[in-house]
Amino acid sequence: MAVFERTREPGQPVRCGCGFSNNCFTPLGIPLQDEFIINRLEGICFVTPSLFRYYNNTSVGYILKKDILISYLAAKAEQKGVRFFKNERIIKVEREKNGKYLLHSSRGKYRCEVMVDGSGFTSPVRSYLGLAAIPTLGAVRFLYPREEFEPSGVGVTSEDANYANFIFHPKILPGGYGWVFPMGRYVQVGAVCRGNPTSSLRNLLMHHGNEFQTPAEVTGGRIPCRGPVDKLVYDKILLLGESGSLVNPMNYAGNYSGMLSAKIAADAVRRYFNNKKEDGDSSIKLKEYESKLLSHPSQSPLLRRGASSLYGLTEKALDLLGKASRNRSRGGLSIMKLWLGLFRAPSVLRELGHLRELNRAMLVLWENGW
Ligand SMILES: Cc1cc2nc3c(=O)[nH]c(=O)nc-3n(C[C@H](O)[C@H](O)[C@H](O)COP(=O)(O)OP(=O)(O)OC[C@H]3O[C@@H](n4cnc5c(N)ncnc54)[C@H](O)[C@@H]3O)c2cc1C
Repeated sequence: MAVFERTREPGQPVRCGCGFSNNCFTPLGIPLQDEFIINRLEGICFVTPSLFRYYNNTSVGYILKKDILISYLAAKAEQKGVRFFKNERIIKVEREKNGKYLLHSSRGKYRCEVMVDGSGFTSPVRSYLGLAAIPTLGAVRFLYPREEFEPSGVGVTSEDANYANFIFHPKILPGGYGWVFPMGRYVQVGAVCRGNPTSSLRNLLMHHGNEFQTPAEVTGGRIPCRGPVDKLVYDKILLLGESGSLVNPMNYAGNYSGMLSAKIAADAVRRYFNNKKEDGDSSIKLKEYESKLLSHPSQSPLLRRGASSLYGLTEKALDLLGKASRNRSRGGLSIMKLWLGLFRAPSVLRELGHLRELNRAMLVLWENGW
């Protein structure tokens, strides 16, 4: 087995928020080592435009040193005999008459029978397959030294300092959200939304009366936000992670979906080669990757619709969600408070469908964690 990575070191540079669900580890058979952890997260908290807060305490997770985690996993794979071709970019893919794939890289040509593509939404494999571009939103991540950023300025109280805080403001962060995560000596502040996320973040800080200071460390990229595409297996090609648009940033997010898809794909490929020895053709085993992954709770259409509902709510509806939330230790929504709020803000009735969908999605989140 061979892995091609265009950078010199897998996992570097780190662009992402590095939030990982607890589900990424024991359930996927990966030991969570202390050396990966920057911060533990006690849960997630949604902050509404008028700074009400909605908690989900079952969603414990971590802010990790993602580069260390990836180099740990790469070293384990190498020990098991996987060959890494680092600093080598896949440029083009072709199919030969014998059914094998021919990979053209920046350094040479290689043949393979089964191809597992985890090279993101700009993947050359997607181009070979002639697939449509995956819709994405711009995202940016700022790191402020703790003493230079006051989270209360965007509605994050000191008691919520160890939560993954997601901030909603449909006018300032259209179609997305901002986030504030603890990150050791730093506070991580980010945004993913339509338009320019850096301007949105600046506007959010200024809206709450904060001065905007560009931090020394700024990274970013784009995130596919619509959840998985319907087809993830094309003959003997399996699309993983962002190459399959497996990101629903509100819920299980990209890191978990990427890791889960890799685990299910690895099992499917192993079964393909084992079965081939006995039966000749065993393409059906590769197809199982798609059915298993798409039926996993994390990829549920309900979660996808719940996240879209959340991005589409008006300020009033978001505030109602916050007002109806129970306290930090209990988390979740009080249905009585929700109805009382609706009585006081009848215009939100128009969004009842979205709120109901969101509430149903939240139950899945409560059961499974973020
Ligand atoms: C600002 C920001 C913050 C985010 N925060 C979070 C968060 O807190 N939690 C979370 O879960 N998700 C977060 N995400 C999303 C998350 O980073 C991605 O969804 C996740 O990393 C997807 O994994 P992947 O393996 O599909 O793709 P990537 O992590 O992009 O990995 C693709 C790999 O393929 C390599 N590659 C690409 N093209 C080629 C080629 N042609 N040849 C060889 N190698 C190639 C790349 O170098 C890279 O190593 C964030 C994203 C951004 C942009």
